[in-house]
Amino acid sequence: MRVGALEAGGTKMVCAVVEFDGQGGWKVEDRVSIPTRMPEETIADMVEYFRDKKIEALGIACFGPIDLHKDSPTYGYITTTPKAGWANCDIVGPFARELGIPVGFDTDVNGSLMGEANFGCAKGLENSVYITVGTGIGAGIMTNGKMLHGMLHPEAGHLTLKRHPEDEAFESNCPFHASCFEGLASGPAIQKRWGKKGVELADRPEVWEMEAYYIAQALVAYIMILSPEKIILGGGVMHQPQLLPLIREEVKRQANSYIRTSQMEDLDNYIVGASLGDDQGILGAACLAMEVC
Ligand code: ADP
Ligand code: ZN
Repeated sequence: MRVGALEAGGTKMVCAVVEFDGQGGWKVEDRVSIPTRMPEETIADMVEYFRDKKIEALGIACFGPIDLHKDSPTYGYITTTPKAGWANCDIVGPFARELGIPVGFDTDVNGSLMGEANFGCAKGLENSVYITVGTGIGAGIMTNGKMLHGMLHPEAGHLTLKRHPEDEAFESNCPFHASCFEGLASGPAIQKRWGKKGVELADRPEVWEMEAYYIAQALVAYIMILSPEKIILGGGVMHQPQLLPLIREEVKRQANSYIRTSQMEDLDNYIVGASLGDDQGILGAACLAMEVC
C-alpha cells in the first residue's frame, strides 16, 4: 500500500510517500520539505507534489488547534492559530478535492505517537504519551488503544506549572498563560530567558536543571491523570543529551515514590526519547492515511 504523508508545521511542511508491505515493514520512498508560507501557495505546492505520486490516501498530521469533529462545518480546518494567514484555514478540503482520495487528519503530536505506537517504542501498548518540546510544546495521547481527541484535542502543552524558585521573574513566552509549560519551557522560552538558543547553552547546567524541573512537573501530571505505560519525548530541545537523565531524576523526586509500578521502578525504559530517528511524524501521518484507506 502506497500512501502520502504530510507533517504540517508552522515552519515547514514535510511531504512524503510511504510504502507499507502489509507485514509491518515500511519505507519512506520520497520526501520533500516545503517552507510554510501563506496557505494558498503552500497548499498548491503540496497538492502538486502529491498529484502524480499514485498514492491511495493521504494522512495529515497538523499543527493546531485544529477541528477534528467530522460533523462540524469546519472539520479539517486549522482554527485559531496565531500563525499569520493560517487561522480558519481549510487544510483537508483542498487535498480531498484536488487529489480525489481519502484524507486522514489528526494533530501533529497524535501523529508522532501513532508512528511510535505502530512502529516504534510504544508498539503493543494501549496507553502512551508523546510530548514534543520544540518551538511549541504539545502532547499526543493514546488511551485504551485510541487516540484521545475529546472536546477539541488535548492541549497538554498549556498545562499550568509551578515556577522554579529561581524563575519567578521570567515573563512567560505564552501570550495566553502567565505560567504554562510551553510559556516556560519551549525552545523560544529558553532563548528568551537565557538570551541564547538552547544549542548554544549546552554547557550551562542551570539551564537544563530548570528545563528538567518544568518538563518533569508536566510528566508527573500526565502520569497521575493518564496513567501511561510509556512516555516518549521528542522535539528539538530534546536533542540535548543531558536532559533526559535530568528529567528522570526530577520525575522520581517529584512523584516521591507514591506510584509503585514496574515502570516507575525503571524510568530509563519508561521515559524515553523518540525511537524512529525523527521519522515518527511522517510515519504517523502515513498511519493516518492507512486508517482511511
Ligand atoms: P518545530 O517545533 O518548529 O517543529 P523543533 O522540534 O526542531 O521544530 O524545535 C525547534 C526548537 O528547538 C527551537 O526553539 C530550537 O532552538 C530548539 N532546538 C533545536 N535543536 C536544539 C538543540 N540541539 N538543543 C537545544 N535546543 C534545540
Ligand atoms: Zn500557554
